[in-house]
Amino acid sequence: MSVRPEVRAARSYHFTPRPAPIKLDQNESPYDLPEALKARALARLAELPWNRYPELGAESLRAALAAYHGWDEAGVVVAGGSNVLIQAFVAACGLTQRVLSVAPTFSVYSDQARLLGAPLTEVPLAAGFALPVEALRRELQRGPGVLFLANPAAPTGNAFAEADVRALFEAAGTWTVVLDEAYHQFAERDLLPLVRAHPNAASLRTLSKAFGLGGVRLGYALTSPDLAREVQKLLLPFSVSALQLAVGLTVLEAPEYVAARAKEVRLERERLQRGLEALPGVEVFPSQTNFLLFRVGDAAAFFDHLLGAGVLVRRQDHLPGLAGCLRVSVGTPAENGAFLAAARAAAAALG
Ligand code: PMP
Repeated sequence: MSVRPEVRAARSYHFTPRPAPIKLDQNESPYDLPEALKARALARLAELPWNRYPELGAESLRAALAAYHGWDEAGVVVAGGSNVLIQAFVAACGLTQRVLSVAPTFSVYSDQARLLGAPLTEVPLAAGFALPVEALRRELQRGPGVLFLANPAAPTGNAFAEADVRALFEAAGTWTVVLDEAYHQFAERDLLPLVRAHPNAASLRTLSKAFGLGGVRLGYALTSPDLAREVQKLLLPFSVSALQLAVGLTVLEAPEYVAARAKEVRLERERLQRGLEALPGVEVFPSQTNFLLFRVGDAAAFFDHLLGAGVLVRRQDHLPGLAGCLRVSVGTPAENGAFLAAARAAAAALG
């Protein structure tokens, strides 16, 4: 078998599904789509001919997203999840050039760079998980390539200082800058104006988080028409299905539920933060996302304690700089209450 050595050397995406009554491990929305919207999406799907290929490049959804954001339709790219777009950006802008990011960050950037064989540089985050602006600036002088920044950041949860992001956009020159804004609805602001002002930049969005559509798989990029056209070439024809189109078009007709839910997430995140801060031996990091990163010391034992109480969180202690850390997604108020009770018991037992 002549599998490329880069593929042989790469590990598979690291995720172990475990059944647990309270599932707070994947930064999903704890709520399914509102019943009325789900029914409307299914009715729309039923009307589409299943024997025919869908639109070539999700054109109707691109138009709806352009209207939703006040963006040029020619600058919108839609795919089956923002992961797919990350791969497309690596292939379009990184391969044979360079992929640059920080560490720790969302693992798909570096995983795809390694799998596709793109030269990869990961610069460690500065103190407080801040952007290492000077080190990144130095790397940007050795271009061209693509810089990936998740803001708000994952898995650390913080929003970077806007001045730091702006400084990197200005230092980027001909580099492509992908600003992954998967969690922006939970943050104080997005940085779309900055992206709008830089034709080499793209904002990456997903319907998996605030829109509560992780199971449907939809993501998109907002960028310049020039960059959109090039990245679109990397996507396979007809790859956004009739189901994805039907659901995407339906939620964009009635997106009000998203803001209401994001507000609840922010309030519940504060409750979780306060609850965790009150526990002995637990350090909680500030978050602008729908999850919290916290340090407990013995992450494995704490994780097992929570799981024993039926609460599944995510271990992050294998990542650089995150020794002893776990990550919990914000769930429903009842789930968050159960998590806090279990965390209290774990801290007491392990303290
Ligand atoms: N970017 C970041 C920062 C994420 O955390 C995630 C989801 N874990 C994604 C992208 C992937 O989103 P999607 O479900 O649209 O592929």
